[in-house]
Amino acid sequence: MLLQTIILTVVFATAYAAASNSTSSTMLETIVTTVASIIGAAVVVGLINQQQSISDSSSSSSRQRKSKRDDSSSSDTDISVEGSVMVTLPAWALASWEDYFTRKYTTDEEMMSLAIHLSDRNITEGTGGPFGAAIFERHADNHATLVSIGMNRVVPLGNSTLHGETVAIQLAQRRLGSFTLMLDENKEDGLFYDESHDDDEKESSTPRKRQFELFTSCEPCAMCLGATLWSGVSRIVCAATKDDAQSIGFDEGPVFEQSYEHLEKAGIQVTRNILREDAAKVLQRYGTSGRIYNRG
Ligand SMILES: [Zn+2]
Repeated sequence: MLLQTIILTVVFATAYAAASNSTSSTMLETIVTTVASIIGAAVVVGLINQQQSISDSSSSSSRQRKSKRDDSSSSDTDISVEGSVMVTLPAWALASWEDYFTRKYTTDEEMMSLAIHLSDRNITEGTGGPFGAAIFERHADNHATLVSIGMNRVVPLGNSTLHGETVAIQLAQRRLGSFTLMLDENKEDGLFYDESHDDDEKESSTPRKRQFELFTSCEPCAMCLGATLWSGVSRIVCAATKDDAQSIGFDEGPVFEQSYEHLEKAGIQVTRNILREDAAKVLQRYGTSGRIYNRG
């Protein structure tokens, strides 16, 4: 504010000097000089105010970010408190991105190995709970490619909904730009519809549903069963069991055999106990020292 006052004082002094200057200045020249000086000052003051506003806002945001960081024991916490939530993968996962995404996967065991690896590394790195997940797309010749990965991020990001499965589902949908993975590769809008009641649509194109499969290192909790149902995946494959998770103290919520039957009725194929022992070992390792955030 002091700077603006100084600028305005200088401008008015210049204008006054111009107005009372030599006899050669005409009245018109004096008016033009004065008006031009005032406009120039207004532009300069406006720029300064704008700059201060940007600077205030950015220092306020950085204060909030700093305060958040100070409150957290994790180094990779990244939560916006300004009306949005950030879901982030830990740095080690991003660094391994190319290794994960450039391969062609063929067997269930190979794909499950990645989900279990994510759960194991998540413990080692201290970036969340002992659960990993990955979503693959199955192609016509039966090989699969990786679409997204996820791991438990509940404690580091302060968000009870960030289980391995939900993180993988969110990132897959973000990548594909769709609220569902029920997609049709022959449709302009990409969405797959049940066209059995729509003869006109049926004749217009042949539906070809893309196949997305969710691999999870442990059978889903009640929340993730629901998320799986709404996600649009066509298959869920699980390693460790609900009992394995509960044996180290986790509460899995209301999950019943009928829950899986419901998924199958909805057209989602269920495969369980793929590499169960490997995944259970990761849970047991976490159970000896890790934080059980929703104890049963
Ligand atoms: Zn869950």
